[in-house]
Amino acid sequence: MIYENYYIFTPGPVKMSDEILAVGAKQTPYFRNQEFSDVTFNCEKGLLEMVNAPSGSKVIFLTASGTAGMESVVTNLLTKDDNALVVHGGGFGGRFVDICAIHDIPHFDFKVKDTNLSDIETLSPNGNFTSLIVNAHETSVGHIYDLDSMGSFAKKNDLLFIVDAISMLVTDPIDMSKQNIDVVIASSQKGLALPPGLTMVILAPTALAKVQDVKNMYFNFKDYLRNGERGQTPYTPAVTIMLQLEARLAQIKRDGGVKKSIKKAKKIAKYFRKKIKKLPLKAFTPFMPNAMTTLTPTDGKSAMDIVNSLEEGYKVMVCPNGGELQDTIFRVSHMGDMTKEYTDVLIDALHDYYRKDV
Ligand SMILES: *Cc1c(COP(=O)(O)O)cnc(C)c1O
Repeated sequence: MIYENYYIFTPGPVKMSDEILAVGAKQTPYFRNQEFSDVTFNCEKGLLEMVNAPSGSKVIFLTASGTAGMESVVTNLLTKDDNALVVHGGGFGGRFVDICAIHDIPHFDFKVKDTNLSDIETLSPNGNFTSLIVNAHETSVGHIYDLDSMGSFAKKNDLLFIVDAISMLVTDPIDMSKQNIDVVIASSQKGLALPPGLTMVILAPTALAKVQDVKNMYFNFKDYLRNGERGQTPYTPAVTIMLQLEARLAQIKRDGGVKKSIKKAKKIAKYFRKKIKKLPLKAFTPFMPNAMTTLTPTDGKSAMDIVNSLEEGYKVMVCPNGGELQDTIFRVSHMGDMTKEYTDVLIDALHDYYRKDV
């Protein structure tokens, strides 16, 4: 099998626990019955709890990767009468801009750098906006935004606040009720540490009221919401991943709840950052999430060379960055089934790599 027995520090797919892997090894069951409806309801309840969704919120389960969640939220909730303020601090923000452009949704390409937007009040461009869109953790560079201040700003200006939380769920805090978030986009293969293929859109009542009649067969939220009433989806769901999600939510709860998981991720991220302090690597951004550490070599070495050396010499997978940052940064995920011992493998590999180098 490809990359079997490798150490996984990529930001999606991430390291999965044995318990969740075991669920995936079982026969996929038939799903148009009450037993599976109950699984869907359990998943919905667990997700709503996890993000402290306001009462009356609903979850849409899409058999697709996260980008489908981003695109379908834009097409189902926004119209030509809207004007979206789209935070663009990296590749995923750029993707939201592209989605709005493709679907002719009026938007402002809000390019940001070196800020976590705790100062959004002063930085925000002028305009008659109706919506604020952000990737809470911009995974392309490992930069996390301040959802508290963005949420206050959204509330004050009456903006529909859409948050892609794909790569910060379970490792970094998010609270729909406290942060005035109307929509959360989640996906299976990052913070939730499941296989790719399942995307969830969490809609607060404020967002449910904005769901449009759309000309789209598959990504039609009204259809999903109607079917969701009985715990079903219009088309075949990612049945096995739903079973894994149910198990994963139970696992998080059993281990002390999501707050505990966030604490654990924070501890591991801190541990990693401390242990590599003496190496010629520096943090790419001061606004790092617990989910990930993005590093820049300070000795002129190519980041891509480090990525390749770790893979070839130590069976350790970290993540390069495509495009213009390819030689400047590499990314280390702390998402998934991480422990200090597991992280030590990467820490030791990095130290050994630099030792051999001199
Ligand atoms: C991974 C990711 C996505 C989704 O990408 P897919 O390849 O479509 O799964 C969306 N937003 C963010 C912030 C991500 O990290």
